[in-house]
Amino acid sequence: MRLPGADVAGGLASRGGNCAVCGLDVGLQWMVSSTGQVWCVSHRQLPLCRWCGLPVRNALSHPASCESCSRQAVESVADLGQPLHQVGSHMASLGLTIRHPVKLILKPPAQLTSAGLFTTGPDQLGVTQWTHDGYGRLTGAITIGIAAGLPRPHFRRVLAHEFGHALLAQAGPAKVSPVVAEGFSEALALEHLRGSGAGAVERQIAAQMIASEDPLYGGGLRLVAFAVDRYGLKAVLHALETGRAAAVGLR
Ligand SMILES: [Zn+2]
Ligand SMILES: [Zn+2]
Ligand SMILES: [Zn+2]
Repeated sequence: MRLPGADVAGGLASRGGNCAVCGLDVGLQWMVSSTGQVWCVSHRQLPLCRWCGLPVRNALSHPASCESCSRQAVESVADLGQPLHQVGSHMASLGLTIRHPVKLILKPPAQLTSAGLFTTGPDQLGVTQWTHDGYGRLTGAITIGIAAGLPRPHFRRVLAHEFGHALLAQAGPAKVSPVVAEGFSEALALEHLRGSGAGAVERQIAAQMIASEDPLYGGGLRLVAFAVDRYGLKAVLHALETGRAAAVGLR
């Protein structure tokens, strides 16, 4: 799971208001963040929050993260309760459960990289690892690694995506192509983001996912989302679990 190539530069809008950065009236021209917040053109030199696109004053980290995104960051075990419950209960309501033990590791990306969990570069946000024995049975726990510091909605998106990989893993050795596996995981994350209580941030993430030009993530999602619309999520999962992807128009 990688960070999508986000377009967070904003643009000119047709109505103003108070600036989300300095609180003053934005005047006659203004910028808009990807979550719809307006801000003064004069802040254009500031670094933009990597999550919501709002300019950040006194950025403490690189890439920058704004105050509101930082406040919501899932940094440690203490922050896990609410998002874990939100994703877990939503998945259960969709009839999706992981019967196998799952180990969740929340650590800074550098540590996940040195532990051999993150392998695809600095934009990686999550990973799912597992091993099957010679009979196709899972051995040991399914390990999900997620980068510490994601704002809650982004954390839930990554967790729901990795949940998709875990569902496919418990069905046995891969029966689908990487693009279908990533597409299914993205489709599950999209389903979660659109589920109950979706706000501006969830809608922004969903829009970025659907528009992503990445052939694996964006391409996979568009492929699988089409099958999900047509056959339903559970039917698609069942087809993938049983090696009958072609039955739902996938391969
Ligand atoms: Zn993935
Ligand atoms: Zn301002
Ligand atoms: Zn932000």
